[in-house]
Amino acid sequence: MADLAAPRAGHLGGHAPIEHIPSLPPLIGDYEERCRRFTWEGARAWLDPDPSGHVNMAHEAVDRHAAGPLAGVVAIRFLDRTGEATELTYAELRTRTNVTAAALRLLGLEPGDRVCTLLPRSPELYLTVLGTLKAGGVYCPLFPAFGPEPVRERLALGRIRVLVTDTLSYTRKIAPQRASLPDLEHVLIVDPDEAGAPTGTTPWSAALAAGWAAYDPETFTVAPTRPEDPALLHFTSGTTGKPKGAVHVHAAILAHHVTSEFALDLRPGDVYWCTADPGWVTGTSYGILGPLSCGVTIVTDAADFEARRWYRILHDEQVTVFYTAPTALRMLMRAGTALAREHTFPTLRHVVSVGEPLNPEAVLWGLEAFGLPVHDTWWQTETGAIMVSNYAGMPVRPGSMGRPVPGVVAAVLAQGADGRAAVVDGRVEVLTGPDEVGELALRPGWPSMFRAYLDDPDRYAKAFADGWYLTGDLASVDADGYWWFVGRADDVIKSAGHLIGPFEVESALMEHPAVAEAGVIGKPDPLAGEIVKAFVTLRVGYEPSPGLARELIAFGRHRLGSVAPREIAFDQALPHTRSGKVMRRLLKARELGLPEGDLSTVETAPAAATDEGATT
Ligand code: ATP
Ligand code: MG
Repeated sequence: MADLAAPRAGHLGGHAPIEHIPSLPPLIGDYEERCRRFTWEGARAWLDPDPSGHVNMAHEAVDRHAAGPLAGVVAIRFLDRTGEATELTYAELRTRTNVTAAALRLLGLEPGDRVCTLLPRSPELYLTVLGTLKAGGVYCPLFPAFGPEPVRERLALGRIRVLVTDTLSYTRKIAPQRASLPDLEHVLIVDPDEAGAPTGTTPWSAALAAGWAAYDPETFTVAPTRPEDPALLHFTSGTTGKPKGAVHVHAAILAHHVTSEFALDLRPGDVYWCTADPGWVTGTSYGILGPLSCGVTIVTDAADFEARRWYRILHDEQVTVFYTAPTALRMLMRAGTALAREHTFPTLRHVVSVGEPLNPEAVLWGLEAFGLPVHDTWWQTETGAIMVSNYAGMPVRPGSMGRPVPGVVAAVLAQGADGRAAVVDGRVEVLTGPDEVGELALRPGWPSMFRAYLDDPDRYAKAFADGWYLTGDLASVDADGYWWFVGRADDVIKSAGHLIGPFEVESALMEHPAVAEAGVIGKPDPLAGEIVKAFVTLRVGYEPSPGLARELIAFGRHRLGSVAPREIAFDQALPHTRSGKVMRRLLKARELGLPEGDLSTVETAPAAATDEGATT
């Protein structure tokens, strides 16, 4: 068993340990009972299949509501960069996505063919996601700020047949390399100018008009997809290496729905804002599908992060549930509590985070700024939906991820020498003691589990052992059943016989008033094996200096003892993925002068440097 020497997160420095922060009760009354009785088999009754058992994500997300009392409720309220709003009710969304599906069908889209968007958060993006699903195609998001090479690579790997984009992105990123993309048959341009769409492309409006003419949008039939038919192709964030393509099926909508209820506490009547870009799995599972399946009103914002704007949206749009990421919360923190206090959030009742470890400091800051603790959720592109969560109604333990959500069976597996689960003769060992650290594993069977890594069956097979899916993350469970994230198996630092999770060290450093964000790596050392080196971004008003570095080392030693950082470097531009994760592997490669590896997902204008451009 691994010996994790770092202290528990949640014990904030000199303060008494913060055990629990009460959380508002979830809206649903018989909640505890519902958790206890939950089975996927039982939950399946929620699905609305056709008489032959076909299930389609877009039908479950939109059409079932369009036929009932929610038909006139706003499904999505799109804010453009100027703050101007466009709304679509569930009934309108049904019609508009039928037209989009009809347009794709006319273009010759066959079941299983893949469709991509390279678009900012705009109505056309959401219509394409849902229209593709209705046409029986597979939707694959692309992050709009990707450069030409990451775009080309994903279009080629995914053998994408249809791309929806705008003139500028097409001209800059696609046209010069179109010849190397033989599978890309159709490009739809959402904003053709007076001269028309670029050569080799079709105006979006023309494709839609043709769809409208060929099919009656009111009677259009959604493709009869089976629950196990592919629906989504998501590339991972590329934090640890080359992004992998995870394939999800239509049945996943059940997991999106159930977790949106349990972890996000979504109900009809909610106004919900998820700040994740639909370029990533969070932006589809919880930016579109799960919340719509719950009948809420989604708010989307086309603009980049700006603290004042975000507070204004939370207030003006009367947001009730807010799903964001630690990096965004840290940027709000950097902008100061005073700014938050200029606003009130009377409708807000649940604040939730995903993507990276949620530092206790950010949880407590949520209490100050919103009057609500931030609730963590842990999951991966591969899991398709939230797996571990401080779900609605569960008291928050700052620094803990919470518990497996109903229907998810998780375990901590004993590690081998490489930090991953030890597999001996095909068997693994499940650790049962409190606080024992090992690889977080999940028992397959939840509906949104990925069904393949695109074109890589070997890698997929290796992700499973002895009936478990191995996540690559390390965790422990405390005596009360709360789960604690330790780090990615690849990031864990081995120093003088201790295993040190970077998250613990980063969280401790963030308790110092000068520190806005930290990224921690192991640096080879002849005596200790590795020493802990921390890269630190300072808050406004603090300047790097040798004195401050010494102070932070002393502060770390006081908080953490022997596992504290021995070296501090100041870095106002910590490398992040575009989904907002600190890229420790890049910090390490730069430190050691090693090749930097796949950089396709690196945020080019680091969010930390400017307070702008959060891309959760
Ligand atoms: P890649 O697999 O390409 O290296 P990635 O793992 O960052 O990239 P994602 O699937 O977007 O790609 O991210 C999932 C990972 O993010 C998890 O395995 C975990 O390491 C981290 N993560 C997500 N949510 C949390 C959380 N609440 N607490 C701690 N870590 C989290
Ligand atoms: Mg991963």
